[in-house]
Amino acid sequence: MASAASLFNEVRRCTICAEHLPLGPRPIFQLHPQAHILIVGQAPGRKAHESGVPFSDASGDRLRQWLGLTPEVFYDAKQVALIPMGFCFPGTGKGGDLPPRPECAPAWREKLLRQLKQLQLTLVIGQYALDYHLPDAGTSVTSAVQSWREHWPHTVPLPHPSPRNNMWLRRNPWFEKELLPQLRARVAEVLEGKS
Ligand code: SF4
Repeated sequence: MASAASLFNEVRRCTICAEHLPLGPRPIFQLHPQAHILIVGQAPGRKAHESGVPFSDASGDRLRQWLGLTPEVFYDAKQVALIPMGFCFPGTGKGGDLPPRPECAPAWREKLLRQLKQLQLTLVIGQYALDYHLPDAGTSVTSAVQSWREHWPHTVPLPHPSPRNNMWLRRNPWFEKELLPQLRARVAEVLEGKS
């Protein structure tokens, strides 16, 4: 079996769906085998493609606030793994960024997830990540997130933290009142090694 380092290098050189990527391949993920928390997003946006840093935007600020994490901890690969459903910016359509490229998960996902030997908590963000990691959680993001207690304490479905979801947050106040306080406590517990 390939070492983690050679696997990561293989992914970073990937060009499988290059012909579909408007800005070309630039796989972005954060992974160390010691990480206790996995955050599964959709795919990098244009800003992340340019900077090489995932969640370095308003969505990332909100996600860190939801989790009670500083940027230092969030970007510490030995604590938090960031493995989106697609590793390269897929381009933009009429309604915002396009879905993660469908070639990516079958090519790499299982191999990379197997590297996480100490995983204790998986946070699943948005429809594409939910379809893969919690396929039975519900037919919509709302119903999946509403079912969060069924997956507790190892997997937590979340809506996307994008400012585009402000309306969703207003319509679902239970998310911030009930789920987030428990999630923050769970994240702190895992990172303190108490789980
Ligand atoms: S999106 Fe995934 S499959 Fe496509 S080039 Fe990037 S790493 Fe490879």
